[in-house]
Amino acid sequence: MAGRPFIYRFRNDLRLDDHAGLTVAAARGAVVPLLVIDDALSARLRRSPRRAAYFCGAAANLDADLREHGSRLVVRRGALESEVLRFAQESDAAGVAWSAAYDADGMESDRSLRAALEDLGYAACIVHDAPVIPPEDIATVRGDDSRGYRAFAPYFEAWTARRVKSYESPLLLQFARLQIESQLLPEAGEFGSSRPADAAGARRAQHDFDEFLDLRAVEYAARSRVPSADGTSRLSAHLSFGALSARSVVRAAAERLANPLAIGEQRRSLRLYLRSLARRDFFAQLSWFNPQTAREALQGKMQGFPWSRSHPMLDSWRAGTTGFPLVDAGIRQLHETGWMHPHVRSVAASLLCFDLGVDWRIGQQEWDRWLIEDDDAAATGNWQWIAGVGADMAQFPRIYNPERQRRRFDPDAIYVRRWVEELRHIPVEAWRGAGGDSRQLTLALFADRSYPAPIVDHGRAARHFLRRYREFVEREN
Ligand SMILES: Cc1cc2nc3c(=O)[nH]c(=O)nc-3n(C[C@H](O)[C@H](O)[C@H](O)COP(=O)(O)OP(=O)(O)OC[C@H]3O[C@@H](n4cnc5c(N)ncnc54)[C@H](O)[C@@H]3O)c2cc1C
Repeated sequence: MAGRPFIYRFRNDLRLDDHAGLTVAAARGAVVPLLVIDDALSARLRRSPRRAAYFCGAAANLDADLREHGSRLVVRRGALESEVLRFAQESDAAGVAWSAAYDADGMESDRSLRAALEDLGYAACIVHDAPVIPPEDIATVRGDDSRGYRAFAPYFEAWTARRVKSYESPLLLQFARLQIESQLLPEAGEFGSSRPADAAGARRAQHDFDEFLDLRAVEYAARSRVPSADGTSRLSAHLSFGALSARSVVRAAAERLANPLAIGEQRRSLRLYLRSLARRDFFAQLSWFNPQTAREALQGKMQGFPWSRSHPMLDSWRAGTTGFPLVDAGIRQLHETGWMHPHVRSVAASLLCFDLGVDWRIGQQEWDRWLIEDDDAAATGNWQWIAGVGADMAQFPRIYNPERQRRRFDPDAIYVRRWVEELRHIPVEAWRGAGGDSRQLTLALFADRSYPAPIVDHGRAARHFLRRYREFVEREN
């Protein structure tokens, strides 16, 4: 390809397949792949050792894939704008493309980089790659003033009606043959992590998805809320680093759904699975159109709600020693694996916000230290949803009773006993009867061991919170 090369700057889109940003760059010139490790990225990776390990493993995989195309990942460390500008000059590139960020800081950094490039006469293309349907595409369908959707149900309806684009055109991808120096690929150690980068990157992501679609997707409806069942796809880390294209996931699931031979259970499961994937886009567009939600509640009526910044039992929640077995199991699963089952996240977050009355931002920050996922928009949207200050427009917050949830979704305590060592000795029959229909656990069950008694009386705490909530809403609105 004649003409000047075009830089593609990777960040959370660490793959070559079905890549909207790479396709845009390739249409403008032979591609030069760049990875800049700036302070913002470094800080994200330093926060969670597992996240750092995932990122470094996925970057190494990307480099290997690029080498198969006769290219390589050029790595630079330093301030984003100066490194990108210097590299554009070195490579005599016509411009730079990259994938849009959906968190407030990332969006600000995107704007500033674009301005710096354009000031010096370079083309700058910010491309929607992470969501299946870009935020503006859905806002257009809505015919709105482009503020996007604040409620999930109508969003999902519009989302389902949109055609999913494909960027599977590897033959069009041409890489520039330039002799350019690269710094060393990132290593987890430089971000203070000693974890090996297992299960990271595009190949592993594709393998995990294929396995899910072939073996487990059919039972998603029945098993996705059962924390012991391994019933969800566990793709969130792969998707958040763009090791897998969400578009190709949706296309593959929709293709199965369109199969006339698909049975009822399979159809129900695939529909629900697509609904889950749409939630990811929903929260991305929510943040895209409402970047202020990184700091404050989406719902105006809840801004200024007096959440506590601390609680005598906050450290017990952090450590997974609340005395509520389902919550403790989830938090310990997070500590050990970098992931927590989605439904257990809701129950554990509810305990923090409602039973302890602690600010959702404290919970978000705490989990951010452990999660592999790197998706601030999803984190904020979900935390606000659970705390009753975001896009869930229910009249009153949905307060989960943690023990009732355990009895419903983990009746034999398979999940709880997997993660909470102190409770392994308690026989199945005891769990089935535990607490009967009462609000609280049967404390005698746990009395003689090291496992703590529940840190709050759930019923009383929930009533107390609801009273405060009602008073605040009536006073302020
Ligand atoms: C309090 C709370 C905090 C959360 N924090 C994060 C976070 O920091 N980062 C993050 O990526 N997700 C977060 N989630 C959403 C969700 O729990 C995780 O994405 C989870 O890892 C999905 O597991 P899975 O891949 O097995 O899901 P599946 O059920 O198999 O869903 C498939 C994919 O759809 C997407 N998805 C499903 N549910 C949601 C959702 N509610 N919101 C956004 N995307 C969704 C994910 O990309 C997921 O991989 C949070 C949820 C709650 C309740």
